[in-house]
Amino acid sequence: MGTPPSLSKVAIIGSGCAAMTTAFELTRPEHGGRYEVTVYQQGFRLGGKGASSRGPAGRIEEHGLHVWLGFYENAFRLMRECYAELGRDPDECPIASWRQAFEPASHVGIVDWSEAAGWEAWTAIFPPLPGEPGDDFTRDNPYTVTGYVVRMLEVLRALLEAATQQLGPTGEKERTPLQKLTTLLRYAGLAALTGAAEVTALLDQLARGRAADVQAPLSALLERLQQALVRERSKLVTGSDDARRVWEIIDLVLAIFRGLVQSGTFLDPRGLDALDDYDIRDWLARYGASAPSLASGFVRGLYDLAFAFEAGDIARPGIAAGQALRGALRFFFTYRGALFWKMRAGMGETIFAPLYEVLTRRGVRFEFFHRLENVRLSGDDQPHVVALELDVQARVLGPQYLPLVHFGGLPCFPAEPDFAQLEQGELLRREGRDFESHWDRRRAGQKRLEVGRDFDFVVLGVGVASLPHICSEILARDSRWRSMCEQVKTVATQAGQAWLAEDMTELGWSLPAVTLSGFVEPFDTWADMSHLLPLELWPVQGREPRSLAYFCSVLADEAPPPARPPPGQWVDYAAEQRALVRRNLGDFLERHVHHLWPRARTEEGFRWQLLVAPDPAQDAALRGRDRLESQYVSANVSPSDRFTLTLPGSTRYRLSPLDATYDNLTIVGDYTACGFNESCVEAAVMSGRLGAHAIAQWPRLEAIVGYDHP
Ligand SMILES: Cc1cc2nc3c(=O)[nH]c(=O)nc-3n(C[C@H](O)[C@H](O)[C@H](O)COP(=O)(O)OP(=O)(O)OC[C@H]3O[C@@H](n4cnc5c(N)ncnc54)[C@H](O)[C@@H]3O)c2cc1C
Repeated sequence: MGTPPSLSKVAIIGSGCAAMTTAFELTRPEHGGRYEVTVYQQGFRLGGKGASSRGPAGRIEEHGLHVWLGFYENAFRLMRECYAELGRDPDECPIASWRQAFEPASHVGIVDWSEAAGWEAWTAIFPPLPGEPGDDFTRDNPYTVTGYVVRMLEVLRALLEAATQQLGPTGEKERTPLQKLTTLLRYAGLAALTGAAEVTALLDQLARGRAADVQAPLSALLERLQQALVRERSKLVTGSDDARRVWEIIDLVLAIFRGLVQSGTFLDPRGLDALDDYDIRDWLARYGASAPSLASGFVRGLYDLAFAFEAGDIARPGIAAGQALRGALRFFFTYRGALFWKMRAGMGETIFAPLYEVLTRRGVRFEFFHRLENVRLSGDDQPHVVALELDVQARVLGPQYLPLVHFGGLPCFPAEPDFAQLEQGELLRREGRDFESHWDRRRAGQKRLEVGRDFDFVVLGVGVASLPHICSEILARDSRWRSMCEQVKTVATQAGQAWLAEDMTELGWSLPAVTLSGFVEPFDTWADMSHLLPLELWPVQGREPRSLAYFCSVLADEAPPPARPPPGQWVDYAAEQRALVRRNLGDFLERHVHHLWPRARTEEGFRWQLLVAPDPAQDAALRGRDRLESQYVSANVSPSDRFTLTLPGSTRYRLSPLDATYDNLTIVGDYTACGFNESCVEAAVMSGRLGAHAIAQWPRLEAIVGYDHP
């Protein structure tokens, strides 16, 4: 995409991870102020699906659990640069550097069904791998099919070599996955069965890029290994859930290997994308994974963590196999430092407030309370955007709305707009305006931005499910956009946060703080987020929580009401859905949480008194299940807040931020073809960097780590 020398004004719509990345890239000092960026954002805060705020008692209130993975190279680089530029004083601000913003979280697990024990957590501490995410690479870029597999093979080789050695008593229970696998392989005698030397030789050839030569012998070897594993199963797993689970991991890893080798993925220029028409479970079955492994907590966790259920129906799981493998291989084999990194506060103050501060310093203008309603195109053959039509949701009294407040020295977004900065603010507050709800269309006015006068280039950073609402002209003329909007589906999500009066040990959870998935609905994912409590501001007079739990899951779709109903029929749909999520949280605490926290209930049921309300009077007054009213829930149902799915057969419909159909328009977001086609912070940041490249030819494409789609 060519950049006319006169281009300077860029209108960015939205402020999620993708849009903020584009703003960050375009306003780098190296550009010498060439791009004058204005961000138009509905409502009063930044962050989109990652937005979080501070509620009563300084509680962190999130859209949902957000953890960062140790392979988020682009996202960590962004934040490392952001914090370096911010230069906060550590004596004044509790989060002054990126290392203070994130902490390693290596304890992860699944919740698995056991005949003997019922629902049971199975966890492991993943050992730190060298470096930290965002460090420069000293080795080759590991993000190629061969790169992933070479790393996976390194692990397998280590296992096989270890398996040929004498098994000595370890004295204590193995904790790392590697230790567990090694022990099982030793017991199984699998190395002796196949010949470690033979495997090693083939792997060396594969690592040297001679995939075609090794395809047949390696396939045969892997099949033999699978057959041996199946033969040994009954001997290996009898009576031991641990052994069964390790057996399942090996079974799945072998199926991945065999699938990659036999399907010729190493030789296919499309790489893993070539597998995207299959669902990952079907693909694994095709290459020999057993039924119990496919039903295991590991595979269920894969779907749960990606909210991968069409229409939020858990009977309809689906993730494109190629992207699922890319995600899993990067996750397990390319992480640096820790497998997971948890933020030390909410996404709002850890990510978006620092970005806001750096960007405003660089001269970016933020227009809050601006909702894009329509993108107007020119009618000619070389279409471009001629105007943007926006609703002004509220008028700001001063020159600019200031969105941040301070909690304990940390700039944060508050849970409500600062109505004092708005025209007729008190009235708007009384009316209970929900500026982020798609169904609350009330507005103070309208604004039309004209090309040439107000902008030269548009960066559309809204979620994919918003596009049909604001891009009807593009969809009417462009079948590729229509296909993308039809095929790249999204799902609503739900999240609950519970502040508890006892610590996790008192509740019966005896292991370190953990992130778990694969559990039962309505909340299949739980993370112990108690580490956040010191940065919240609980009242000294009232009870203080001693632990904090985040739960997350999909939310089944139902037909929402129209955004513009006939007069008098307005429904506060977002509030209705929040009430549903609150009921779901109550049911989950009542019926399921005791599998994780056995002492959270008595014979009468869940101990509701455990829930700590932020207001001492409320804490004293609420009884029984009503105490749920004091906890925080989020129903992410507005189109832009819906989570983007990676359904089988859908990835080819994604358009790239580099697509040059519209001269002065680019799209950025986790739903675009960005090299990592699964919704997450890293995908959004990669997309945002591509969007900046589309305008400024910078960053270089090679500098976008893991972008292997020329
Ligand atoms: C519950 C939940 C949990 C998640 N957990 C994780 C996790 O643990 N780790 C991880 O990496 N990822 C996680 N994700 C995914 C991650 O949050 C997203 O991939 C990422 O935030 C998407 O960023 P984005 O910029 O693509 O889009 P968005 O964040 O959706 O940004 C869109 C922006 O456009 C704005 N907007 C929309 N319509 C308009 C309009 N008409 N006018 C003006 N502005 C508009 C929105 O307000 C928003 O600012 C999670 C997502 C959810 C929903």
